[in-house]
Amino acid sequence: MKKATLIDGDVEPPSQPMEQPALRAARLSAPPTGLQFRQRHFPRATHLEWNDWTWQLANRITSLPQLERFLQLSDEERPNFRGKGGLPLSITPYYLSLVDPTDPGQPIRRSVVPTLHEQLLSPGEAGDPLGEEADSPVSGLVHRYPDRVLLLATSACSVYCRYCTRSRMVGHHGRRDGLLQAQWERCLGYIRSHPKVRDVLISGGDPLTLPDERLQWLLSRVRAIPSVEIIRIGTKVPAVLPQRITRPLASMLQRFHPLWISIHFTHPDELTPEATRACTRLADAGIPLGSQTVLLRGVNDDVPTMRSLFQGLLRLRVRPYYLYQCDPIPGSAHFRTPVERGLEIIRGLRGHTTGYAVPTYVIDAPGGGGKIPLLPDYCLGQSPEGDALLLTNYAGGTYRYPV
Ligand SMILES: *Cc1c(COP(=O)(O)O)cnc(C)c1O
Repeated sequence: MKKATLIDGDVEPPSQPMEQPALRAARLSAPPTGLQFRQRHFPRATHLEWNDWTWQLANRITSLPQLERFLQLSDEERPNFRGKGGLPLSITPYYLSLVDPTDPGQPIRRSVVPTLHEQLLSPGEAGDPLGEEADSPVSGLVHRYPDRVLLLATSACSVYCRYCTRSRMVGHHGRRDGLLQAQWERCLGYIRSHPKVRDVLISGGDPLTLPDERLQWLLSRVRAIPSVEIIRIGTKVPAVLPQRITRPLASMLQRFHPLWISIHFTHPDELTPEATRACTRLADAGIPLGSQTVLLRGVNDDVPTMRSLFQGLLRLRVRPYYLYQCDPIPGSAHFRTPVERGLEIIRGLRGHTTGYAVPTYVIDAPGGGGKIPLLPDYCLGQSPEGDALLLTNYAGGTYRYPV
């Protein structure tokens, strides 16, 4: 077991009075937290270490032989994982504690444990399906829409999702700070010289894997650009490394308001007391939280799972923002569902539950078309008499709207 290099002094007992209602809500649906897992696999880790994000990073599981100590790998999971060149393997001990050790079909497990299927290239799949390189005026920045840019601040994540949109570029660790800094400077220069940019979305990789000081440096430079109205961060950290959301981080972030955060959540099993605490802390810092979810076959492609996820997120004050059709990255066919499935899910949610719990279902168009929304059709057309529009509601009833 590796020792963490930094000690985060931000560990506290889990039951703060203010957080209790949300915690209680999460416990109703959350699997047991990692205590047993920790005692079994990291018996020498203290409570303090386990709750220290740098310890979590230092003890990530990054190879199959390591993974085999925790999970009974199936034939599909075991053989040919080639680590090098492809999408790396990385799972935090915390996130691994949510993985079922014996069931290779468990949703969370499928989303982070590599399988043979990802070595299969299917028609239509491409390394850069969204054509981001073509819309990249400087390295590390994508400018596709008129008034906002995507700044890829780092290529590192704490956990690599097997369906990652940017599998072509994530995980190149060991990039020196100096190089990254020079790239950031060029991105900042571009934003400064394009005053139409009023919204900067900082993503990656996962920007919340950066140390506080580096993130603060970047945020303060972006905030200092007069044309930038809002800053957004895209991250999966609250789901996979909730220990990272410390009090010092939350208070640093709130200095850069208006700041929004979009969190990548995949499955209701992620809504643990730890994730609840992380989201509570961010929401209490006044940061509006949205979620982005990728529709994945056998992982979350049914109405009850999605309803449970989205309703759970509302309890955590996270507003479901986008539901993505899975991008055709190489080796992702086993994850993709027909578009019809996504539409069925939206149909199964809209009207049946809180409107806030219904995200916008989008396809990020291959070739750089951007996000295109898809909606079930509630409009049946003109009445035969031509005096009304015929509409259908969530319960299947038909209604007339006079025209
Ligand atoms: C998703 C995305 C954005 C942000 O889109 P919104 O619909 O405003 O959330 C901006 N730039 C790129 C390249 C994107 O992929």
